Amino acid sequence: MRAMNPFENALQQLDRAAQVGKINTDVLARMRHAEREVHVSIPITMDDGKLRIFEGYRVQHSGARGPYKGGIRFHPDTNIDEVRALALWMSMKCAVADIPMGGGKGGITVTPKELSKAELERLARGWVQRMHYVLGPKVDVPAPDVNTNPEIIGWMADEYAKISGDTTGAAFTGKPLGKGGSEGRGAATGMGGFYTFDALREQLGIPASATVAIQGMGNVGGHAASIFEEHAHHIVALSDSRGGIYQKDGLDVAAVLAHKEKNGSLKDFPGAEQISNEQLLELPVDVLIPAALENQITKDNADRIQAKIIVELANGPTTTDADDILFGKNTTVVPDILANAGGVIVSTFEWEQNLKGEHWSEQDVLGKLKNILETQSQLIAKRALELKTDMRRAAFVVALERIQEKL
Ligand code: NAD
Repeated sequence: MRAMNPFENALQQLDRAAQVGKINTDVLARMRHAEREVHVSIPITMDDGKLRIFEGYRVQHSGARGPYKGGIRFHPDTNIDEVRALALWMSMKCAVADIPMGGGKGGITVTPKELSKAELERLARGWVQRMHYVLGPKVDVPAPDVNTNPEIIGWMADEYAKISGDTTGAAFTGKPLGKGGSEGRGAATGMGGFYTFDALREQLGIPASATVAIQGMGNVGGHAASIFEEHAHHIVALSDSRGGIYQKDGLDVAAVLAHKEKNGSLKDFPGAEQISNEQLLELPVDVLIPAALENQITKDNADRIQAKIIVELANGPTTTDADDILFGKNTTVVPDILANAGGVIVSTFEWEQNLKGEHWSEQDVLGKLKNILETQSQLIAKRALELKTDMRRAAFVVALERIQEKL
């Protein structure tokens, strides 16, 4: 079976939202196209002295509500269609969060594990050398995504400052704390996912101590696991790209993270059953959190999903066919453009702090984050009921209405 193209999935989501909400057709037409797409080659001298050329991308989808905003992904499967989809979702996400940002996304086609640290640094700086013309605090503000982290973003921010002379540090977010980063940014996406879930939990009849399966345990999934556990939920399954583990009474998240850190995988974690990523998705749990990559929940497995609620911390984990199957069996899907907005919200706080020369406390940051996500989660759940549709379509309708006001 051909894997779903994430950009086709994103376009279908737009069309499906237009079927339930009153969206101006001109706005819809504009949203089907990015405002600018940049595709570059990045020549890197490898440690052995040989030259390798990498492909890099930046897609600036909509600047209607503010500077383009979105992460940079380093992955072997990254391509222009994936980046286009992710950029479109960023425009919708920033509008759902009601922050003054537009949508963008970037990436490099690379297997980062095959590069030394010095090569990775040259590649990160190389991306900025090619892209700096289209970046800047008032133009486009990138952040981390899959396989990029504060250290990599720190190199990029440094390269941008050297080339442009910008002294605000506001051209990149997700920087290390000592280099203009915000308190709370590391855990923000996981934390935001929890606030969103918690705002809806009671009305969905989910117990105060629920069972949770999480696919992916990188920045987002790892933090989400610790945060849900701290709030009395039981993390019964976790996975990485090589597979997962299951313990029906609940895993000790800190012990699992330490095991992964030490051994590089979840293999041989004591007392847990080894499972595949496919099995993880179908476990008998209250809450399923996809926190890895796109296209995990499709028409082929949606019927077998047993969770009552799916909190999409990954971008694009569910296809539209699967959305219909899940809606039909009363499974709530909290869509990515709401559930994982915590990252971009705190990124925007970082940008604001850099521009104003301020440093906010973690308590301030998390308080503001909670406030935004509680308000928007309830508003979108209500809108879904009014429109008699799922939360994804309702969230797209809200986002498109907000974008329309600024066009
Ligand atoms: P990461 O690189 O830190 O972690 C990715 C995790 O997914 C790793 O544990 C990896 O082993 C696992 N993984 C990779 N391929 C997999 C596969 N085929 N099956 C199962 N697991 C697999 O990345 P991240 O920053 O945690 O991002 C994860 C997801 O969250 C992505 O969809 C990303 O776009 C989204 N997201 C990230 C942020 C952020 O702030 N970093 C914000 C919003 C959304």
